[in-house]
Amino acid sequence: ETAIRYSGVSKVYPNGTTAVDHLDLEIPTGSLTVFVGPSGCGKTTSLRMLNRMVEPTSGTVEINGRNVADVPAAQLRRSMGYVMQQSGLMPHRTVEDNIATVPRLNGVSKSKARANARELLGSVGLDESLATRYPAQLSGGQQQRVGVARALAADPPILLMDEPFSAVDPVVRQDLQRELLDLQKRLHRTIVFVTHDIDEAITLGNRVAVFARGGKLAQYATPEELLRA
Ligand code: ADP
Ligand code: ADP
Repeated sequence: ETAIRYSGVSKVYPNGTTAVDHLDLEIPTGSLTVFVGPSGCGKTTSLRMLNRMVEPTSGTVEINGRNVADVPAAQLRRSMGYVMQQSGLMPHRTVEDNIATVPRLNGVSKSKARANARELLGSVGLDESLATRYPAQLSGGQQQRVGVARALAADPPILLMDEPFSAVDPVVRQDLQRELLDLQKRLHRTIVFVTHDIDEAITLGNRVAVFARGGKLAQYATPEELLRA
């Protein structure tokens, strides 16, 4: 089953930069697919076309068979979790209230949203006692874990992750990678994960899409196939 399909997708920014050049790609439901390649080869642009943060210049992007251009951008964004390099947590809200924000917008009661937030803390390897802290009182690695918990809070079928672990130190990074793999085994979400680190791509990916300069897809393979090549 295909969750995401790019068909002949290109993106040329108004300044003339071709960020993505005729991308054709099918991403299976429930897979962790990694977009890897050097800086500037169109990974983030490709990711952002999934939730319409970026609109393609040509071609179509489909999610579960539906052209994303036909879905209101706000609805798309609510239906996908998004984790970035900077956790993007709101500094004046506690950890639990950061995680509870989207469920609250979706009408979940405060007590239920907070209870769920505490449960999510456990699933990203954090102690519940951190729930009432503010982001600045956490380490960088802890903040990224909260970012992942927040992205999961709305129970999204698709999770977008853009270099989520690249700002933390290498040891913490390995922990975060291991936890993401554990999480994926339990949750079976469709995850699209961007990194410039080929080792990270091979560690995490069920599928790896290798991007090359000029925004072209060079290869789309399993980690095993990439290691054999
Ligand atoms: P990556 O994620 O692989 O680093 P990006 O998708 O961020 O690549 O960028 C691809 C290319 O598009 C780069 O040359 C980048 O400078 C350019 N680019 C990205 N965003 C914009 C923008 N808003 N306007 C103009 N050029 C952009
Ligand atoms: P990322 O870490 O996601 O690659 P960047 O730091 O490259 O982000 O870019 C930050 C913002 O600037 C993004 O919104 C991106 O679209 C935009 N941007 C990146 N490259 C360019 C560019 N060459 N011209 C204009 N905007 C750009």
